[in-house]
Amino acid sequence: MKKAIYPGSFDPVTNGHYEIIKRASVMFDRLIVLISVNPNKNSSFSLDERADLLRRVCYDIPNVQIDSCSGLIVDYFREHDCDVIVKGLRAMSDFETEFQMAHVNKHLCPRAETVFLCADNENTYLSSSMVKQIAVFGGDISPFVPESIKDDIMKRLDTTGTTGGKQK
Ligand code: ADP
Repeated sequence: MKKAIYPGSFDPVTNGHYEIIKRASVMFDRLIVLISVNPNKNSSFSLDERADLLRRVCYDIPNVQIDSCSGLIVDYFREHDCDVIVKGLRAMSDFETEFQMAHVNKHLCPRAETVFLCADNENTYLSSSMVKQIAVFGGDISPFVPESIKDDIMKRLDTTGTTGGKQK
């Protein structure tokens, strides 16, 4: 049985993440979407909120599980007896960091192979931070996030009050 982990911030999950999850879920027997706590990133959604959004988005993919980790990805990888780390690649800008991370992870755990999936054309320029910027100003995020979680993201972030979000 091949078990993969897909680590990231997922703050919040976007169509780009979802597309990678769907594609990876058919490549491996089990896929763990791993919300990793990144001390260099200030997150807008709590760990529980991010996990809840991911669970709702992935509810119909039976071999996908949501988990979180606050330590090194390779420690989780080892402890949970995983086989592969999945990462998504958007524009070239992702490559440098992801390449470096894949090498470091392999150094720390030689059997940790990283597999890169290229983002679909329409998701190449999509990021969680872009979604958050649009939502804060009450813009339409529906092309960028799964429909089932759109309203909850707006309620949490919209500062204009026009979409039922909190007004500041
Ligand atoms: P972000 O940069 O949006 O905060 P994350 O830390 O949540 O991203 O990213 C987790 C993983 O998902 C990384 O491998 C990242 O390259 C990938 N990813 C993020 N957004 C997309 C997207 N739009 N299309 C494909 N992969 C993506």
